Amino acid sequence: MSTLAPPPLLSALPLAPPGEGLSAEMLALLFERARPLVDALFAQVNDGVTVQAPDLSLCFVNPAAVRLLGATSEQEALHLGGASVFGRHELLDASGNPLSHEALPGRQVLAGQSVSERVLRFRDKRTGQERWSRVSSAPVRDSRGQVVYAVNVFRDVTEVMRTQERLSLLAETGELLTASLDLDSTLIATARLLVPRLADWCAVELVEGSSPSRQVAAIHSDPAKVELVRRMRELYPSDPHAHGGTAYVLRTGLSAHAPDITDDMMVASAKDTEHLRLIRELGLRSLIIVPLNARGRTLGTLSVATAESARRLETDELQLVEELARRAALAVDNARLYAEAKRAQARHEVALEAGRMGAWEWDIQAGRVTWAPELERIHGIPEGSFDGTFEAYQLDMHPEDRERVLTSIQRVVARQEPEHHVQYRIILPDGRVRWVEAHGRLTLDDQGRPARLTGVCTDITERLTLEEDARRLVREQAARAEAERARQHTAELLENLKKAQDELALRAQELARSNADLEQFAYVASHDLQEPLRMVASYVQLLSRRYKGKLDADADEFIHYAVDGANRMQALINDLLAYSRVGTRGKEPQPVSLEKCAARALSHLRLAQEETGAELTVEPLPWVKGDETQLAQLLQNLVGNALKFRGDKPPRIRVSATRQDDTVTVSVEDNGIGIEPQYYERIFAIFQRLHGKEEYPGTGIGLSICKKIVERHGGRIWVESTPGQGSTFRFTLTAAQPPTPSA
Ligand code: ADP
Repeated sequence: MSTLAPPPLLSALPLAPPGEGLSAEMLALLFERARPLVDALFAQVNDGVTVQAPDLSLCFVNPAAVRLLGATSEQEALHLGGASVFGRHELLDASGNPLSHEALPGRQVLAGQSVSERVLRFRDKRTGQERWSRVSSAPVRDSRGQVVYAVNVFRDVTEVMRTQERLSLLAETGELLTASLDLDSTLIATARLLVPRLADWCAVELVEGSSPSRQVAAIHSDPAKVELVRRMRELYPSDPHAHGGTAYVLRTGLSAHAPDITDDMMVASAKDTEHLRLIRELGLRSLIIVPLNARGRTLGTLSVATAESARRLETDELQLVEELARRAALAVDNARLYAEAKRAQARHEVALEAGRMGAWEWDIQAGRVTWAPELERIHGIPEGSFDGTFEAYQLDMHPEDRERVLTSIQRVVARQEPEHHVQYRIILPDGRVRWVEAHGRLTLDDQGRPARLTGVCTDITERLTLEEDARRLVREQAARAEAERARQHTAELLENLKKAQDELALRAQELARSNADLEQFAYVASHDLQEPLRMVASYVQLLSRRYKGKLDADADEFIHYAVDGANRMQALINDLLAYSRVGTRGKEPQPVSLEKCAARALSHLRLAQEETGAELTVEPLPWVKGDETQLAQLLQNLVGNALKFRGDKPPRIRVSATRQDDTVTVSVEDNGIGIEPQYYERIFAIFQRLHGKEEYPGTGIGLSICKKIVERHGGRIWVESTPGQGSTFRFTLTAAQPPTPSA
């Protein structure tokens, strides 16, 4: 007994063309009969699967669907159907807007609309918890094209959607916070981003110096609530020593998280009955307060809370708010540093310049310069030593600047420009360089001729340094913000990448599983069908032997059809079994001799070879890595087809192989009827045949078995052909070393 498929004898399953499908009653019956199989098949599937009748009732739910619908048993889910879900849940679209039930894909399909898939959000009316589902639906139609069932598939995508939402919140706030140094408006915009995407409420408080904290932003979807909170703060200012709330977070620098706020908690935090009334009116359900920590100090707090939506803020949300607060704190710290630097610079300027200013006057007509003593100090010369000449003035000046100063003065005098303004360097006796700025004003005498240039000189060295410092600070600030943006961007990219990889791995896993499920199904179905079929076959054969020629001609003909049908069904089941076994029964690859495989294959085909008078050549074949039984089956199917699809001439068939590097390409060449190029791909699919069973018998499974075997061995199979002249089937395998004779 060999495990090889018998030569394909029987024809393919006739697949009903559209329009000739089953009636609604037949469909219902078929569905009922197939229930054990359907149940078994969908029991393992993680997606929820339901079958829905036109009256919207459910007639099938798999265990995943029971779970996702929030029912406790299959019975409950079937009995209550959609009503149970929608009594408890509010239906929203992916971004949280309310939706009507008509938008459910199942209902759309049952209403005859086109097949659709969408992401929906279900909010539990009691707990406020939200789950996202990707729901798709497909119709099952009867022979008249009427939709008899909708098959709904839904998958819980809550985690994916949450991660997406989280990432986009982080990205958007990150951008806001690094874009500007205007603190208050940035924090308000940030708070606005979080409502209502994360919570119903968001507030930011900042500590400034020793004064009590200041609420910078308070955002709520309902302005009346903002007013309520303002009144509460006014009537009941927060106690800095309180054991909870923002005061506690400010004091300790630790987060506070109250996922479920109970009435007891409200009572405990109220200062009197009026306070309690206001707290109850506010109706907070869940609260998170996190500190804005930067460089070891707590600069303020970021609070988010839910009320109307009844949403529960979980640990995930706490982590997200903490991350947002980390970024906000960095922005606050940066803005403060910047403001401080600006203030310090302004203070310095005033203080320094007061002591570093000296007046001077140049009597143009007399050609004399008078200096205040401060100017001598600025120039670093002993008091009273300035002799009033222009040369003496220029003496300490940096040689590169002398020309410029002179030109400026000459221009003012010549053109009678009212203002003289120039900056120049002086070199002190100890070699240090200082910057001086001169401002002057021209006055004219009675005849309108330039009389005097009067002004002040200021030592601006410190100011220039400070300005340079401030510019550097701003540059550094920008670079820090840029680096932070880049870091966030990279982190997000990495996270996205990882998500995509996870998704891919998941898909691959699912695919592998559903393939395995299908294989298992085909195996079980064909295996279990064998037994009843054997019975049918042996009884019709008995009928045929006993009563052939004893009844009338019609009876003989009917018996003949029954025998033929049973035979064909047996061949089909055998082939199906062989197909499903390729995946499940294959052995680990090891070095095998292709020549031995070919000999095994040909021994099963000897009879057909003799009958057809075929000339069969097998050239020397190499060793390859593989499963000997499967490779023999592969060759048997290909050579068997070459014998079957012969033309008028006696068949000439040649099996040969070439090798390049590690790849062995095997060819099975015939001179048969050939194949039109448009069928090159199709013939490898299961049940695909190009001829009727009267012309050439077969089940249409042989080549799909070949393809499965080759692919399982990591190779590829294809055909080349000239119609009317012959075909060559080729496939690749991996070469192997033959075992050494001693082994
Ligand atoms: P079956 O042989 O049972 O019909 P196969 O899967 O083995 O199924 O082949 C699918 C189809 O491919 C065949 O029906 C035939 O039309 C075509 N075919 C396969 N092998 C050959 C060949 N050597 N020459 C011509 N046609 C072929």
